[in-house]
Amino acid sequence: MSSWCLLEPTMQRNQIMKAQPVINTQPIVSDEIRKTTCYMCACRCGINVHLKDGEIRYIEGNRDHPVNQGVLCAKGSAGIMQHNSPARLRAPLRRVGPRGSGQFEEISWDEALSTAAEWLADVREKDPKKLAFFTGRDQSQALTGWWAQQYGTPNFAAHGGFCSVNMAAAGIYTLGGAFWEFGSPDWELTKLFMMFGVAEDHDSNPIKMGIGQLKSRGVRVISVNPVQTGYSAVADDWVSITPGTDGLLIQSLIYELLRTNRIDLDYLIRYTNAPWRVIHAPGTESHGLFARDDHGDAMVLCQSTQSLISHKTPGVTPNITEKTVDAEGRELVSVFSLMVDAWLDQDYAPEATEARTGVSADRVRALAAELARVAFEEEIELPIEWTDWKGETHQTMKGRPVSMHAMRGISAHSNGFQTCRALHILQLLLGSVDVPGGFRFKPPYPKSVDMHPKPAGKADSIRPGQPLTGAPLGYPRSPEDLLIDDDGQPVRIDKAFSWDAPLSAHGLMHMVISNAHAGDPYPIDVLFMYMANMAWNSSMNSAGVIDMLTDVDPATGEYKIPKLIYSDAYSSEMVAYADLVLPDTTYLERHDCISLLDRPICEPDAVADAIRWPVVELKRNVRGFQSVLLDLGARLGLPGMVDDSGAPKYQDYADYIVNHQRKPGVGPLAGFRGPDGQAIGRGDSHSDQLDRYIENGGFWIHKLPKEARYYKAHNQQYQDFAVDMGFYDSPAPYVYQIYSEELQKFRLAAEGFGQIQPPEHLRERVRTSFTPLPEWYAPFEGSMVSESDYPIYALTQRPMAMYHSWGSQNPWLRQIHGHNPLFVSSEIAKQHQLSDGDWVWVASHHGRIKVQVVVMHALNPNTVWTWNAIGKRKGAWQLNPDAPEATKGFLLNHLIHELLPEKGDGLRWANSDPITGQAAWYDLKVSITKADQSDPGIYPDFPVIESPGELVKPASTVTYGIQFQPTKGDRS
Ligand code: SF4
Repeated sequence: MSSWCLLEPTMQRNQIMKAQPVINTQPIVSDEIRKTTCYMCACRCGINVHLKDGEIRYIEGNRDHPVNQGVLCAKGSAGIMQHNSPARLRAPLRRVGPRGSGQFEEISWDEALSTAAEWLADVREKDPKKLAFFTGRDQSQALTGWWAQQYGTPNFAAHGGFCSVNMAAAGIYTLGGAFWEFGSPDWELTKLFMMFGVAEDHDSNPIKMGIGQLKSRGVRVISVNPVQTGYSAVADDWVSITPGTDGLLIQSLIYELLRTNRIDLDYLIRYTNAPWRVIHAPGTESHGLFARDDHGDAMVLCQSTQSLISHKTPGVTPNITEKTVDAEGRELVSVFSLMVDAWLDQDYAPEATEARTGVSADRVRALAAELARVAFEEEIELPIEWTDWKGETHQTMKGRPVSMHAMRGISAHSNGFQTCRALHILQLLLGSVDVPGGFRFKPPYPKSVDMHPKPAGKADSIRPGQPLTGAPLGYPRSPEDLLIDDDGQPVRIDKAFSWDAPLSAHGLMHMVISNAHAGDPYPIDVLFMYMANMAWNSSMNSAGVIDMLTDVDPATGEYKIPKLIYSDAYSSEMVAYADLVLPDTTYLERHDCISLLDRPICEPDAVADAIRWPVVELKRNVRGFQSVLLDLGARLGLPGMVDDSGAPKYQDYADYIVNHQRKPGVGPLAGFRGPDGQAIGRGDSHSDQLDRYIENGGFWIHKLPKEARYYKAHNQQYQDFAVDMGFYDSPAPYVYQIYSEELQKFRLAAEGFGQIQPPEHLRERVRTSFTPLPEWYAPFEGSMVSESDYPIYALTQRPMAMYHSWGSQNPWLRQIHGHNPLFVSSEIAKQHQLSDGDWVWVASHHGRIKVQVVVMHALNPNTVWTWNAIGKRKGAWQLNPDAPEATKGFLLNHLIHELLPEKGDGLRWANSDPITGQAAWYDLKVSITKADQSDPGIYPDFPVIESPGELVKPASTVTYGIQFQPTKGDRS
């Protein structure tokens, strides 16, 4: 990176602090320590909050906590200033000026909740789907999803659709689990760690601790990433890949492993569907489906008898290479044969891929050789006896000590789902999934896709005043599971689970506002959002979204999205566009549960969950959103939220956490259950459960039996443990799905088979993208714009010191990132004669921005990037309009459209993965031109919005240790 300094003296740069410091000489001592869970990012580390006279003095890591073991990052320690933020909302608000003006009046909670309940009740009685309820990166989706279900709207999702649903869904459909919350590298035993597309600080403390552990053992770390920052900067090998080509590199690695015969055949036969037989009957409705017996079990060809038998047969040794025929005379081939045919294709030879990926053929061969060397020459064998799902006892647990981790960099592309699937298949070929030294699942994962619900919300099941029959989100298995009406039109406002995005397991939050504005597939009445900054950094085409939120229907004089309820703790850009604001607490003032029903904090060797609780007194007129949601549910009389007399069933979220049971004996928290608080997993509610958690440091943890710690999907001891814990009700072992029959069923529909088929304009897209073995295809945007017009790849990643926009108002963290430059490669800088600080125009097919550059050498030659969510709208977040976030910071989002360019047939597709609907943020292609340096300044420059943060009335200062005397006009 260049020596151009991003940090300027705080007093000059951070213009909200125009004051002389007065040093507080009082020693900082605490008189009480309260243990809770951090929420400065999504990692959920344990923290000890030191208090003095009830005020926070200091935050440190909890050394006993399973997630961070005492480690605390910059964000975590800056939680003090999050709590003291000037941008905190302080009371419910009703809009009194036009949307976007930021003009509100404070109202009482009773008035706010009555208004919200009135709006919501009206919609529920007429047509519940006219409520769109979407949340951001909250950690209570088990509650919010259940609330949507009980309300009766299918229009629910959280942030996953614009984050990493490709990673999550590819993991579930292939392995039954994915990275991060679902699994992690075996940090203790791995001997080679390889990352793909991991942001500079993803899964922050856990990965930092893990990499630290690897470094101390001398383990090699490889990072595949166009940008060499963060983890990539400390990797032993940095592979500078062209954005969007990770899938091609992975398939080239697979080619090399197959070509050199360096794969774990025994693992593939035992634990994957490689030996399963696939019907090869092109042009028929059964082509590409598994050959199944009378019980529906997929069949294999027995090597000794040459007969077709269930793959579940104990002791069977399958033939994986020869073709055979079934009783109907249909040719059957093994998945393994299909794999070899597909990936030994010369198109995947390293020489054939190097031009596109930017990774030389020699390097691909070297990477493949190193993966194979460690996997097969440094095998681990633990002396632990275990029994597999077929009853065979193994004296040891064998492991291929290669572990991998991947995230949004490979996921947020229109080819991301198949890229993520390819990565999992690479892991399987090496035999390194859930084995000693490999990638390991964290309970309650793995769970096969068959154990996950299908999405509820079929057109005929949405009825006025009635709940849905199941959860709105799920995992479709075939076209029959889609949420489309009799005409094939989407049921959901975001078009999730329609032919636009059949496997959109997390919804398409980035399409909600534009679809609602267009009335496509229908208009909505109420948009209800929580923690989702859709009027700024969480939306593609942010300026367009702002217009949509303020656009008025000339026929009615009403906004096209008529009612907008928003809940947030801070005065983000989105607050200004709400009609009704339900102010949330900070994470230190509330109850929360980090639940096994949601995204828990388990470790591969242990089941764990945690709570947050009010460690400081709440002194503003705000309420935890989850309690508000339950209150609204009770006011609406939603099933499960009221008792037989119609009275509220839960006093607040804390009451719900303790007493709600999703099924008998299974509630939000797994620890300290039963009449005496001794039961774990399953058990009656225990009235003192939260106190027990607090006494225990804010979390609960239970170790897995030694023999259940690996091979969980196939391990009888783990399966029994999972049933005891309540993860599922009977053992459910399975094998990993290299070949996806689910995808093939959608492809067959596109080829004209079955009752439910895609519309003509999507038929070819479904046929080519739903390949049952992953096939790489070029990202859509790059294929649709002129390479000569937009030759450069443009990316974002969140900064290490902030979690997206959460740190925007934090005075400490703002001193690390007050604004963001556009990092340009030295090659681009040379071509355009750019130096640090120069202004450039950056243009895409959608728009253009003017920003300052910093030249960076450790960057893919044809790539530019910046941090997301540093740039702020003037006036938002209680920042002064001339704060650097607004005058120098910028959003790349202005260049990204939620729709792809016109195809020439009048149709525009969503800028999303065609399988899951994941927002394709990283497909962006741009051009750069040097701007007139005599006319500096950010473009676009938005008008100031008034921030209804805490300090508008009354004014005060932000103080901690060093106190600032405010000068006139200061707002913090
Ligand atoms: S990694 Fe995230 S959860 Fe952990 S201390 Fe840092 S901000 Fe908090």
